[in-house]
Amino acid sequence: MKLYNTLTQQKETFVPIEEGKVKMYSCGPTVYNYFHIGNARPFIVFDTLRRFLEYQGYQVTFIQNFTDVDDKIIKRSLEEGISPQEVSEKYIEEYFKDADALLIKRATAHPKVSEHIEEIIRMIKTLEEKGLAYNIDGNVYYSVEHFADYGKLSKQSLEDLKAGARVDVSDEKKSPLDFALWKKKKDGEPYWESPWGQGRPGWHIECSAMSKKHLGDTIDIHGGGQDLIFPHHENEIAQSEGCCGKPFANYWLHNGYININNEKMSKSKGNFFTVRDIAKHFDLEVVRMFMLMAHYRSPVNFSDELLKQAETALDRLYTAKYQLDYLLENSALETASADEKIWIDSLSQYRHSFINAMEDDLNTADAIASIFELVRNLNSNLSESSSKEAIMAGKKLFAELTDVLGLAVKEKESKLEENIESLIAERQAARKNKDFKRADEIRDQLLAQGIILEDTREGVKWKRA
Ligand SMILES: [Zn+2]
Repeated sequence: MKLYNTLTQQKETFVPIEEGKVKMYSCGPTVYNYFHIGNARPFIVFDTLRRFLEYQGYQVTFIQNFTDVDDKIIKRSLEEGISPQEVSEKYIEEYFKDADALLIKRATAHPKVSEHIEEIIRMIKTLEEKGLAYNIDGNVYYSVEHFADYGKLSKQSLEDLKAGARVDVSDEKKSPLDFALWKKKKDGEPYWESPWGQGRPGWHIECSAMSKKHLGDTIDIHGGGQDLIFPHHENEIAQSEGCCGKPFANYWLHNGYININNEKMSKSKGNFFTVRDIAKHFDLEVVRMFMLMAHYRSPVNFSDELLKQAETALDRLYTAKYQLDYLLENSALETASADEKIWIDSLSQYRHSFINAMEDDLNTADAIASIFELVRNLNSNLSESSSKEAIMAGKKLFAELTDVLGLAVKEKESKLEENIESLIAERQAARKNKDFKRADEIRDQLLAQGIILEDTREGVKWKRA
């Protein structure tokens, strides 16, 4: 497999450290809110890479952290009048709800900063002992000038970086590029005891410490969004390699940006969407389809129209899946004919083109195109008069390939139930807005599908007629 490595700026053949095994780390969310559509992209991309590596037979250990100690969490806790821990616990739960709806598999582990303070302190101590960190009155900083390779990921020299750095006169740091490893306690903030007094870790150190603990000193793949290359990933390299004296990650993978209606996403422009916002209008599997229809390194534009296109594409996959189930139930013949056997053998071309696309730096766009070519072939060659053996061969290959992408994996019944639930939710909203016409329409539409609604004290219940 070839992967584009940000560190070397080229596509390289992937060779794991240990044969048959992959150690992979991806930066996870800061849990102070629902995650937005820009965050969803790396979660989906690296989940898909992990699925493909597993499909290729690798044993993958995949770590994605939760940042549960952060300024934004503290701010949110003051706004909501609950403790920072309650804020992070709440949004970790909400993360999993959205991730499940996006069909993102659980990582091998989802470590939290608050549970790795000991490891973080140990790493900062080592950096201090090696002369790479210094303490000023309870604040510990990384001394960037003492790490010779600083800038190697973002391809910037120390001189360029220094020239571009903002110098704050009140800053106690020795150099404007130095970054905080440990922050002295402020009133009302969560803190831990440390050799430098009470305080809490800076942001960058957590990934270095958690990666070391769960995966060891050197990992195969480190992933994240392009926006993390500098300074976050550059600082992770400085910390991990400065501490351990070994390469941190062999392959650095970064996904491209997301624009909303051709504009950069920002809260001030009002084009900032959380995944939860989108779930009001689309099944989140559509968002997964949308993300995978583009190459992960390309920038993507997010619009209602493009989401609708992804929805249509996903519907075509589900139609194909359910059609195969229907044919299998209604076919009268068991064994494939001689002609069908030749046809069954020919299907492997789609597996090959799918794998070739995925091995070319995870080209999911071309991989999806291979699946649609398979669907066209199945549509024109299978019917109720085909043998069960032939239909089964088509169904198995379809499931094999769509499973790798995490698409079209729902069975008919659960998809149906989901549609019913979302119509009921829409009817409730219509009633709340006194749009009784729409509410009645939905009731009738469900009735036509054989679904009867009952308004009870515990809410709306439904049953089959
Ligand atoms: Zn990170």
